[in-house]
Amino acid sequence: MEKSKLIFNQDLCTGCRSCQMACSLHLAGVFGPEESCFEIIQDKETGIVTRKFDNDKCDLCKDETIPMCIRICPRHVIQLNTDFRAKHVYKY
Ligand code: SF4
Ligand code: SF4
Repeated sequence: MEKSKLIFNQDLCTGCRSCQMACSLHLAGVFGPEESCFEIIQDKETGIVTRKFDNDKCDLCKDETIPMCIRICPRHVIQLNTDFRAKHVYKY
C-alpha cells in the first residue's frame, strides 16, 4: 500500500478549509476546492470533520519554501511524512 505523503492529526481540525484553498492556489493558481488535494467534509449534525486526501495529486509543494497546507494550518494538523522529506529540497 502506498504511503501517505502527509500525516494528519485530524482530531485537531476545525474544518476551516484553509489548507484546501492553499493547496489549490499552489497547484492551479486559483482558490478552488476542486483543484485541491483535499476534500474537507463536515457532518452537519455532529460537526465532525473528515478529510479525503489525493496522495497522487500532491507534489509535496516542491517549488515552495514550505508545503502550503502545513504553513497555513492554524491548528498544526498536517505534518510531512518523513519518508518523503529527503526527496524534496525546500528552500528554507
Ligand atoms: S504539500 Fe502542497 S500539494 Fe501537497 S497537499 Fe499540501 S499544499 Fe497540496
Ligand atoms: S487548515 Fe488545518 S484546521 Fe483548517 S481545515 Fe485544514 S487541517 Fe483543518
